[in-house]
Amino acid sequence: MKAIAAELAYFFRGQARKNIKLLTLYCSFLAGLVIMYAWLFRVLMWELEGREYSFITGIYWTITAMSTLGYGDITFSSDPGFLFSAIVTLSGVVFMLILLPFGMISLFLAPWIEQRLRYRATLELPEDTAGHVLIFGFDSVTRALSRNLQNRHIPFVIVSPSHDQAVRLEEEGFRVVFGTPTDAKSLRGARVENARHIIANLSDPENTNLCLTAHAMCTTPIATLVSEPDNRDLLRLAGADQAIPLKRILGHYLASRATTRGAQAHIIDSFGALQIAEIPVQATPFSGQSLSDAKIRQSTGLAVIGLWERGHFTTPHADTHLSPKALMVLAGTREQLQALEQITGEEEAEDRILILGHGRIGCAAAGFLEQRAVPFILIDREANVDCLDHVAVIGDATSSKVLNDSGIESAKGLIVTTNDDSTNIFLTLASRHINPDIRIVARANQEENVDQLYAAGADFVVSNASVGANILSNILEGKESIFLTEGINVFRRSLPPTLVGKSINDSRIRPLSGCSIVALERADGQPPLVVPPPETILEQGMGLILIGNPEQEKTFSRTFRDRRH
Ligand code: ADP
Ligand code: ZN
Repeated sequence: MKAIAAELAYFFRGQARKNIKLLTLYCSFLAGLVIMYAWLFRVLMWELEGREYSFITGIYWTITAMSTLGYGDITFSSDPGFLFSAIVTLSGVVFMLILLPFGMISLFLAPWIEQRLRYRATLELPEDTAGHVLIFGFDSVTRALSRNLQNRHIPFVIVSPSHDQAVRLEEEGFRVVFGTPTDAKSLRGARVENARHIIANLSDPENTNLCLTAHAMCTTPIATLVSEPDNRDLLRLAGADQAIPLKRILGHYLASRATTRGAQAHIIDSFGALQIAEIPVQATPFSGQSLSDAKIRQSTGLAVIGLWERGHFTTPHADTHLSPKALMVLAGTREQLQALEQITGEEEAEDRILILGHGRIGCAAAGFLEQRAVPFILIDREANVDCLDHVAVIGDATSSKVLNDSGIESAKGLIVTTNDDSTNIFLTLASRHINPDIRIVARANQEENVDQLYAAGADFVVSNASVGANILSNILEGKESIFLTEGINVFRRSLPPTLVGKSINDSRIRPLSGCSIVALERADGQPPLVVPPPETILEQGMGLILIGNPEQEKTFSRTFRDRRH
């Protein structure tokens, strides 16, 4: 059935679509001709023969005459009548029996056959193919991943079970193998045993099946996305090396950026004892101050390693102004974050968050807030039958009555997480209009809508595609790193032996590579040194946690020839 649908889809694309319009026009002309002849038939029958026929009979007579069937049940018996019949039959031969099939063949059949002959789906890669990433399931996440891979010159092949999709992707310049992802023959054709990594991005049952099949054939590592976090263990059992609950991660990302409650609620990731947290400036007493006046370092030990403001990431300087709308990226230990919590005090106890959309991502966001005792209200058009933990207000969030009744005017934060970007843009705009001070964190299902969500008034946008793609890219490159934004990562390296005994200043890490040291991990289990002063001596066994863009990261590796941790 799918195959037939895929073939039919051909007729609704490109040139074939234009030809369909032409065919419709031609058929309308034929219909007009039939109606005209039917009308003339009635008039002539009455005038010439004195017989009266209905319009339907006229249509019947015209069609049998034009198609040369001519049953002979209704005929003229005068010369002008015979002449009319001959004209109708002749025009039928020309317009119905010659031009119509000719048009059908030349406009549809011939190009379709030509296309089929030109494109023979690749069923097998050359035998010596090796080192490629195999992608199963092509959607916005894997499309963003493919862009990352192209930028990093990592070869990849997409396996697609749809001929139509395979054609389209090949037309776009991708390498594609046409085959069923869970079929051993397709996997062999995709040279799975020589692949560098498998990315499974199908449904949970299909991913499980794929893992089992691939795992039985080879030792190629498998990274799989998981829709239901509960299925992680099953996927691992089936042979997946990494099972990533993307929707849950996205839900946590959204929630941690929406709440102003407690610094520890904002931890986005960690390297051992070093925590990276993103906290709204609004949630701290530093709002409106410059970074040097805020004395965050002196009072808590935490380092501000970045600032987000409406989608822009900047590395702060001493005189950077801490706008209440911004989000600070902090690095430090749990104790230091607790120290910040002491300072921020109880101000944010009135935090109340509205979550629009109780799908898997909205549900994960709710779970995150619940764990941190942040009050929230969920709104969804329909009940989430998979969730037994939360009670949602049932209603269409695009209705201002529903929003107002849920207390949008007094809420502190808003998480917009429906599966439709137009709805998300609309909800962002409407909510910003009702409550100019609310902190809006929105989800972009398609990367191209990120800018529109910011334009609509979102304070922070989380793009499913780029978060998913970056998690997968980091796994593929075997990197231990935390993704802050497109182009900025926090990553870990062991201390290059050539730098042992030098001070940070003398190591010249920053001037030579552009990377900055976020923290030094110490071998003896002591807490990491967060943003150590330049005179700190680098000791044997220390780990470096650095911040930089991919180019700076590469320069660091080249310059210091370190071993990956
Ligand atoms: P995911 O699992 O990725 O979060 P879903 O499609 O399961 O995605 O979730 C999106 C949720 O958003 C659905 O539960 C849907 O009912 C809800 N939703 C979509 N549009 C609206 C709307 N206008 N008002 C309220 N809820 C909506
Ligand atoms: Zn839920």
